[in-house]
Amino acid sequence: MSLKKITAKRYFVLLMLALGFIFTINVAKLFGLRLAYAELDKQSNSHLNHLVFYIESTLGRFEKIPKVLAKHPLLQQVLTSPKQSDSAEKLNLLLEEIGSVTQASDIYLIDKSGVTLAASNWQSERTFIGMDFSFRPYFTQAMQGSLARYYAVGLSSNKRGYYFAYPVKKHTEVIGVIAVKISIDEIENQHKESVGENDYNFLIVAPDDVVFISDQAQWRLKTIGEVDANKTARLNSSPRYSGREIKNLAVENVQSSYLPQGISGSLYNIEGAEEQQLVFAQQKQMLDVGWRVHLWTSLSTIEQQKSFLTIISASGYLLILFLVLFSKERMRNAKNQRNARLLLEQKVKERTADLTASNALLSAEIEQRKQTQAQLNETQEELIQSAKLAVIGNMSASINHEINQPLTALRSYSQNALSYQERGQDDKTRHNLQLIITLVDRLSKIVSQFKNFSKKSMGIAAQVCLQDCIDAAISLIKHQAQSESVQLQLQLPEEKIFILGDDIRLEQVLVNLFNNAMQAMANEDNKQLTINVYRENDMAIITIKDNGPGILAGNLDKIFEPFFTTKERIGLGLGLSISQRIIESMEGKMVVENHEKGGAEFKIMLPTYNPSNSK
Ligand code: ADP
Repeated sequence: MSLKKITAKRYFVLLMLALGFIFTINVAKLFGLRLAYAELDKQSNSHLNHLVFYIESTLGRFEKIPKVLAKHPLLQQVLTSPKQSDSAEKLNLLLEEIGSVTQASDIYLIDKSGVTLAASNWQSERTFIGMDFSFRPYFTQAMQGSLARYYAVGLSSNKRGYYFAYPVKKHTEVIGVIAVKISIDEIENQHKESVGENDYNFLIVAPDDVVFISDQAQWRLKTIGEVDANKTARLNSSPRYSGREIKNLAVENVQSSYLPQGISGSLYNIEGAEEQQLVFAQQKQMLDVGWRVHLWTSLSTIEQQKSFLTIISASGYLLILFLVLFSKERMRNAKNQRNARLLLEQKVKERTADLTASNALLSAEIEQRKQTQAQLNETQEELIQSAKLAVIGNMSASINHEINQPLTALRSYSQNALSYQERGQDDKTRHNLQLIITLVDRLSKIVSQFKNFSKKSMGIAAQVCLQDCIDAAISLIKHQAQSESVQLQLQLPEEKIFILGDDIRLEQVLVNLFNNAMQAMANEDNKQLTINVYRENDMAIITIKDNGPGILAGNLDKIFEPFFTTKERIGLGLGLSISQRIIESMEGKMVVENHEKGGAEFKIMLPTYNPSNSK
């Protein structure tokens, strides 16, 4: 894939992740906020019911006061005889007392012309006594014989009040009106005290759309909703509001997809003097008085919920993303590991196959080497045998002489024996026959020595006595030495020295060395062959010294090499190399040096063998 494509793919994945992120947050917010709004709706509804109940019960409490008071005889008395000042004073005191007990703002008695005759605020500077309330609708309604309810801004106090008025009758005739005024401020303050701190505000809107009661001072005596200029002018000039300017509180209904269906509340945007404010609004009609009660709850919990949902959904999305990436990474690792394992197994298989093949090759090679070794051993045996035969060949002249001499003697002894026997000289015949027997014994001894020497060795290590071996070797060359006038000087220790090896082969080595020495001394006048045997620690030493010309300095290293010879025609050059191998096969060593007084000296060193220590 090209670099451009990879980059484009990366951007696409990033875009998808970002869209997924935004989508997740929005979906979480939608569902979360719908739940939150449903809960808020429930709570607001409960607060609203509580508020309506509170207002109704508060008003209901005062509604009974004029009804009960209307029956009081003092009222009729004052109304029928207004000039009797003591009755009016009594009534003033009574109304004052009832007012303070019931916490009504003012209680006052109006005659049928609309003038106040007695009042609970009789002592106040702004006392109602003497004031004409005939313009108040509650007065005219009560004068018609029924309970009147009314709200208005007080004329003298300039405060909002709620009025209950009831007719005072004499028989069936309405002779006056007893009125009770309740301070709206009081109701608002008492409500505030009863509910304490909360996150909602309320407005009680009169049928003329004017907010008459509210816990927020800035909303009081304002119209809400669409109000045209005519109506505003009417309200401003209405005696109900005592000339107070009635402004408008702009409220706008806001649509939101977060609001779930089936809830009673809605969102209002309040464009107050200071700043815009979004609230959750609910309203309820108070049937008795015709008021609409609005409860506007702050959206602080919703805002909190919004932040919470954003954090939670973002964290959830990132967590899921992380888990997805993590599991993907793990799966990729597992796949890589599986592939690596398979590759390794494959390699191991291949390597094993290679090893098996090379093992087979090695085995074949070993087998071949064994065969070659066996052939080599055989060849070596043949060589040893050839070397032996060569020695015997070298000695053939002396052997010939050795055998011919007794044979010649045998012949003459035999003839002599025949002559003596013909002559009847039995004693001499017997003597000659005994001589013949001795000669035959000697011959057989000579032959058996060579037979022994020439037979093939079995190559098995055994205990060998050095002295015996040297004796046997000397007996083979003795006759030759005699015939060549070689003086043998033998220095053997009395104590027998044993080594572990092959006696026939050791004999072959010795005969070979003796022969070489005799050949080297061929042209010497005084031929001396000195054989010395001794023990040095655990080693047995044999030295063979001659007084020939010695070995040429340049040849000292070469004489043990196979086929090295200075003896043209007669030499094979194998004697010393085979001898050295034979000695090494017995864990020994063979060296040579030229003696300072002339001649060569060969030295054989072999580990001694103590038969009593062996098992
Ligand atoms: P060959 O006797 O058939 O030559 P060897 O291996 O026995 O083979 O000897 C190798 C050579 O070592 C001889 O040719 C000779 O030159 C030298 N040599 C061996 N022994 C002696 C000796 N005692 N004195 C001088 N030279 C010797």
